[in-house]
Amino acid sequence: MIPFLSLKDVTALHGAEIEAAVQRVVRSGWYLQGQENAAFEQHYAEYIGTRHCVGCANGLDALIWIFRAYIELGVMAPGDEVIVPANTYIATLLAITENGLVPVPVEPRWKTLEIDDAAIEARITPRTKAVALVHLYGRCAYTERIGAICKKYGLKLVEDNAQAHGCKYADGRVTGSIGDAAGHSFYPGKNLGALGDGGAVTTDDPDLAAAVRALANYGSQKKYVFQYTGRNSRLDEIQAAVLDVKLRYLEQDNAHRQQIAAYYYDHIDHPLVTLPERLPDPQNVYHLFPVLVGDGKRDSLHNFLEQSGIGTVIHYPIPPHRQECYAKERWNTPQLRLPVTERMADEELSLPIGPAITLEEAAEVVKRVNTF
Ligand SMILES: *Cc1c(COP(=O)(O)O)cnc(C)c1O
Repeated sequence: MIPFLSLKDVTALHGAEIEAAVQRVVRSGWYLQGQENAAFEQHYAEYIGTRHCVGCANGLDALIWIFRAYIELGVMAPGDEVIVPANTYIATLLAITENGLVPVPVEPRWKTLEIDDAAIEARITPRTKAVALVHLYGRCAYTERIGAICKKYGLKLVEDNAQAHGCKYADGRVTGSIGDAAGHSFYPGKNLGALGDGGAVTTDDPDLAAAVRALANYGSQKKYVFQYTGRNSRLDEIQAAVLDVKLRYLEQDNAHRQQIAAYYYDHIDHPLVTLPERLPDPQNVYHLFPVLVGDGKRDSLHNFLEQSGIGTVIHYPIPPHRQECYAKERWNTPQLRLPVTERMADEELSLPIGPAITLEEAAEVVKRVNTF
């Protein structure tokens, strides 16, 4: 049996240190807004390369708080438009629509699975205020062209770094430090995962960081004084302590993912299975290993592997614009055509990858895929 992802095995890799960290917090008697958060925020900001890091309850909230803070600071207003990759996980769109902003979905490139930077400029209107750049699957989605477009039109570049902890652009900058602000998720299955929910915002902008910190703490900067109508969206001390341990192993864990991915790239050989364009290692931390399966055979490959005891998952079977929750939105007109996104949803299949899977298991996966 080769599971798609065994969180039990992932935790066991650094089990003793994680358990010691949890025990330290349990025995401390201090469970929220304490030293563990302060330490993790400092270490994570240093690692990403930003001046500020603000912990919050989860990755969706991190993204919600970035857009909400820009609204509170007068940079954006409800009704403004945000460019977003059409094939992202729905959380990126929810963060936009939650704030009364309007998502403008842009197609990905078939070869890279990331937003097509050549398709962005045509979608910009006087209401466009930001580009939500998603480093989907762990691949760096930033390009010089995207940076230039944001500069030319005065757009905020908001990174969704939920799937790309430790990923680096070609010039060495770590994703999460490239744009004006970034949302990070520490959902257990992510490259940097907690033992529950967790998230963070990184930015160099002190005003944005302060607004996010207040919004995630009832809208308060000073005890019992409320500047915004915020919510309770804090990272707890146990999760911060666990994340601080796992952050120390992130580079090592990502290197292992890259080794597994290299094996897949070098050995998968099947006429129906296409691998996305290969990036040099620091630019892909392989949160997932997506392949595209042609001829309408994606589901049969999934079943074939399942019968062999190999777990695979589809990311994602229904794109956001085809979801019921967005069926009646003004931006989601019947004329909206996103053929690349829709074909991706029909052909994508993610093979097992992670810090705990072995090369022998990867070899078994390849053997089965190649005999499909
Ligand atoms: C996981 C994820 C999120 C949301 O993170 P949560 O911590 O689960 O709320 C946002 N965007 C993308 C691309 C994700 O994969």
